[in-house]
Amino acid sequence: MVRSLAVMTSGGDAPGMNAGIRAVVRRALDCGLKVYGIENGYEGLVAGSGSVRPLGWSDVGGILPRGGTFLGTARSERFRTREGRLLAVKNLVAQGIDALVVIGGDGSLMGAHILAEEWPSHVEALQKEGFLNGAAEAPTALHVMGLPGSIDNDLYGTDMSIGVDTALNHIVHAIDDLTSTAASHQRTFVVETMGRHCGYLALMGALGGGASWVLVPEEELDLRWHQKMTRAIEKARAIGRPHQMVVVAEGARHPDGLPIRTEELKKILAERLGIDVRVTVLGHVQRGGAPSAFDRILATRLGVAAVDALVQAGDEPLRHMVGLQKNRVVLTPLMEVVEKSQAVGKQIDQGFYQEAQKLRGEGFIRTLDLIKTLTRIEPAAATHTDGVVGLLTGGADAPGMNTAVSIAARCLMNEGFSVVGVRDAFMGLIRGEFMPLEWNELTSWVNRPSSDLGTMRHELTAEDVERVAETIEKHQIRGLIAIGGLGTYQNVVRLSEKAGEFRALNIPMVLVPATIDNNLPGTEFTIGCDTALNNIVQALDKIRHTAGATKRTFVVEVMGRQSGFLALMAALASGAEKAYLPEKGITLAELNEDVAALRESFQCGKRMVIYLRNENASRHYTTDFISRLLEEESHGLYQVRTAILGHLQRGGVPSAFDRILASRMGSVAAREMSAMLRRDQREILVLGQRGRGLEVFTLSQILQEMDMKEGRPKHQWFLELVATAEALAKHAPVCRLDGTE
Ligand code: ADP
Repeated sequence: MVRSLAVMTSGGDAPGMNAGIRAVVRRALDCGLKVYGIENGYEGLVAGSGSVRPLGWSDVGGILPRGGTFLGTARSERFRTREGRLLAVKNLVAQGIDALVVIGGDGSLMGAHILAEEWPSHVEALQKEGFLNGAAEAPTALHVMGLPGSIDNDLYGTDMSIGVDTALNHIVHAIDDLTSTAASHQRTFVVETMGRHCGYLALMGALGGGASWVLVPEEELDLRWHQKMTRAIEKARAIGRPHQMVVVAEGARHPDGLPIRTEELKKILAERLGIDVRVTVLGHVQRGGAPSAFDRILATRLGVAAVDALVQAGDEPLRHMVGLQKNRVVLTPLMEVVEKSQAVGKQIDQGFYQEAQKLRGEGFIRTLDLIKTLTRIEPAAATHTDGVVGLLTGGADAPGMNTAVSIAARCLMNEGFSVVGVRDAFMGLIRGEFMPLEWNELTSWVNRPSSDLGTMRHELTAEDVERVAETIEKHQIRGLIAIGGLGTYQNVVRLSEKAGEFRALNIPMVLVPATIDNNLPGTEFTIGCDTALNNIVQALDKIRHTAGATKRTFVVEVMGRQSGFLALMAALASGAEKAYLPEKGITLAELNEDVAALRESFQCGKRMVIYLRNENASRHYTTDFISRLLEEESHGLYQVRTAILGHLQRGGVPSAFDRILASRMGSVAAREMSAMLRRDQREILVLGQRGRGLEVFTLSQILQEMDMKEGRPKHQWFLELVATAEALAKHAPVCRLDGTE
């Protein structure tokens, strides 16, 4: 049984590491363990004394929004030596520490593995030295758990490492910003991302930013690669594309293995095309700033899982990394993580690029192929003339809808299909209002907020359905891709129910989930929910910053309709003390407890508490009611303020996560539609993202997963995180009234 645990961050810093430390510390304290923090990675562990210090509940308060790591991180040459590691063991033994949690990259995880392997021999040496005389018995083994912390996303055993999502957001926003200046001056930009052996950031950044060309370490370039690139840029300029963006990973190589330098790219493009080329090396900006909501939640989930695994550990010492695969926590032996992570770099160094790509996985290869389609100057196939595929965005708008339209439309055009945009969702189908979609123009849609096609909430009546059938017939619509939320799904169901009556409605359709509420069956994430979550978390961070002289409680209302996703995840990511969810409702007894907890926290010195309330958490205990109740019961201890975040939640450009999700879904929607059209199949298919895997369902399968009365899926995966959110943010342990922690 583990009794005492130390946590540290090591190697390169990554945004979200603080959330990992907070989760480890608080979960471990809750499990009754003694907890230490080690400053400056292995260097602090070797140095000992002040670098290994006990951590309490409040030591990790308020650190969620902070970038970097508050424990500090370092690279340690001393730890690479056996003598250095003996000192590390001495410092751990001195505090009775028998478990170590290391947040870092493959180097740091390797170090942890070696330390655990050598532990018994070091303890023996310390015994011989007489160091242990009189001291409590040294633990016979050291349990080590790793958390993947690396912005490169080069670690085996997890789909995403802590810090990657934040870095990607920096990259796509930087490309957005450069795009506007590039367009104004008709300039070409070369943008370098991090990634010495891993092209993930460059690849996803290019996809999310709508780049014209991408160069990654995992791809073998042919001898004439620069001619192909310059020709593509030249043609893009000739057809009037306002800007060109070449995204290059820092580890991209020439066919002979030598690195491709950004200045070299600039020279090639400027000299061959006689154009104005500017270079932007994004560098450490990618690591900086407040972590994204995804990174905070990822680190929190992994931190909790690491402690849970340690608490349940038997006699066999744990040497594992905890990662997230398909949205599920998975433990992988440290050695396997290190070996398989480093294998890709070795393959690239030896020139085995295909093997390197295979090790990166199917998703990587598919994304590279997709980018190659999207960077084309014109579609690969000539357009068929028989009918068109319609694309619509329905219900309320969600960030990422434009991305999905852009990708789905271009993928279909590339297969030779004509596409057309339907204006204002189903109203456009009723009125016969369409918008032409053009290959070149669509390239600039990937990062646009909201929906350029227009959205509208409208429930189809029997009369409407007849009109829709007429429009479909008249305009020879052969298939329909509907991107939207619950209302869109329900309208498609209405159309399908009348397909027997109106032959025109008997066409293939694909439903793509897009709503900020994340309340749809068959998918764990909907397009738009990540942007909304980040909008909420950024607003909550700002509210927290107002904590000053006045003690305040904020009651913040967020969207989500009948789904508590936004409220719960925002609480997890921001450290809000409470989230009222529609799935759980609100009871009077609970409100009583919350008032008592609130009073206690302010009496203990807290200055700011945030209670989140989903807009439909209760019919009668409204946001206003809760605010008044808390105010009435404050008796001068604190003030209460209300914030209804409203439509700012759905605003702004889509996050990197939403652009990637929308791109994947858009391309799969196009693939399924073109397959159905070729086979003359008339099904209604629905896309879903389970973890990072995209699945295709039939409409009837999906409807079975839906609780129509409640307006949300029967099973919602995120509810398993309620206990974690409550445990980590609870007020009580901050201070007890008797002054103890
Ligand atoms: P990252 O963890 O981000 O990959 P590094 O590779 O620099 O960063 O590793 C961080 C630290 O982990 C190193 O400075 C060193 O102290 C320790 N470390 C890395 N590899 C080993 C190794 N093979 N043996 C012992 N310690 C190692």
